Amino acid sequence: MKFTELGLDAAILRAVADHGYDTPTPIQAQAIPVVLAGRDLMAAAQTGTGKTAGFVLPILQLLSQDSNLSVKRFKPRALVLAPTRELAIQVQESVKTYGKHLKLRSTPIFGGVGIGPQTRILKAGVDIVVATPGRLLDHVNQRGIDLSGIEILVLDEADRMLDMGFIRDIRKILSLLPKKKQSLLFSATFSDEIRGLATGLLDNPASVEVARRNAPAEAVAQCVYHVDRERKRDLLIRLIDDNQWHQVLVFTRTKHGADALAERLGKAGISAAALHGNKSQGQRQRALEDFKRLKTNVLVATDIAARGIDINDLPHVVNYELPNVPEDYVHRIGRTGRAGASGEATSLVCIDEHKLLRDIERVLKRQIETRVVPGFEPDPRIKAEPIMKPRGSGSSRTAAAPGKAHAGHGRSGPPQPAKSSRKAPARGGLHHSGSRHQ
Ligand code: AMP
Repeated sequence: MKFTELGLDAAILRAVADHGYDTPTPIQAQAIPVVLAGRDLMAAAQTGTGKTAGFVLPILQLLSQDSNLSVKRFKPRALVLAPTRELAIQVQESVKTYGKHLKLRSTPIFGGVGIGPQTRILKAGVDIVVATPGRLLDHVNQRGIDLSGIEILVLDEADRMLDMGFIRDIRKILSLLPKKKQSLLFSATFSDEIRGLATGLLDNPASVEVARRNAPAEAVAQCVYHVDRERKRDLLIRLIDDNQWHQVLVFTRTKHGADALAERLGKAGISAAALHGNKSQGQRQRALEDFKRLKTNVLVATDIAARGIDINDLPHVVNYELPNVPEDYVHRIGRTGRAGASGEATSLVCIDEHKLLRDIERVLKRQIETRVVPGFEPDPRIKAEPIMKPRGSGSSRTAAAPGKAHAGHGRSGPPQPAKSSRKAPARGGLHHSGSRHQ
């Protein structure tokens, strides 16, 4: 199957070809004709599947076909809702990339930056708005946007938006949209809450699904290093130095842990930056750019900060701490070994995390190869300690009680954990607030 067989216009095909793509991914091959036909869509697809172009390309086409409609002040025609500013920026970049031969205007709308410049752009008029829910509502409240002209709505990474507590914001936004519109819902998983949202929103939707990355790509080599809690930093430094690792994405459980580790790596002569929700928008973008351009060797991130970030085919992902939820492990290591490239996922596991490791292996349905570096053998006298979840943890499943209105609001990064979830029970005690892979 080629892009040319999907019914896309020449101007869009040219932009796709300019970008170097000729073969649609499975989600694109399935979603594009459905959207072009004007149908509602419910799509099960994660980041990395090519889902963005799956909705951006046909939306560009549908909007550009109505070429006699000139842009109206404050009144966009298509709205994409995304959970994080990073994702909003990425989607917007795709809109720009694939729409470069078209006359459509678009803008991202997200918190953490001044609202004035966004208002000016909306006032001048755009066709497509890619927004995080909280900041979009800020514009609504200031009468800086009129949603009554929306013809096409996309909920991107709907499950994550719900995880982050955006359900009330989303419902409020939906109530402001015209009844008659085309709606597309993308979600990695379909919980009851997502299905409930879909039922109210979608009209006789086509349903497409691409293989979930429940099972990690074959190309990812996984291994576990057993090591004592206090010696993880030194082991990581050793692994990076000895093996000359480059472009290493390291996951920590907390923002504070990410900062401390990045600093420690820096002191050891390894260029490293931390990426998490307490960083300013500028800092986050810079950290990401430097990492992509290989100026920074190691990016230390929390789950939420790393989510949706378009860094592909990384050679190394390190779980400095195992995630509380096994599915997050799969998601994390899915950042390496994409598109046929080989990748390595390394986990540093201390005695506190043995139960988490067993849970992960249960989900993977296999054991992960174990290694010990001489000199870093675990001390058998060290006892397991409960894994506390400090304030500001980046773990996704516990980050915010679903339904917590205005959590995060896109202004200052991901939401803080709900009070009740701050203290996790003894190690491995998980708050499964809804299953992701049903
Ligand atoms: P997404 O799932 O939309 O975040 O896309 C994941 C990655 O796949 C992005 O880096 C895209 O640029 C890339 N991509 C999207 N469509 C294609 C395609 N048809 N062929 C190759 N790569 C693609």
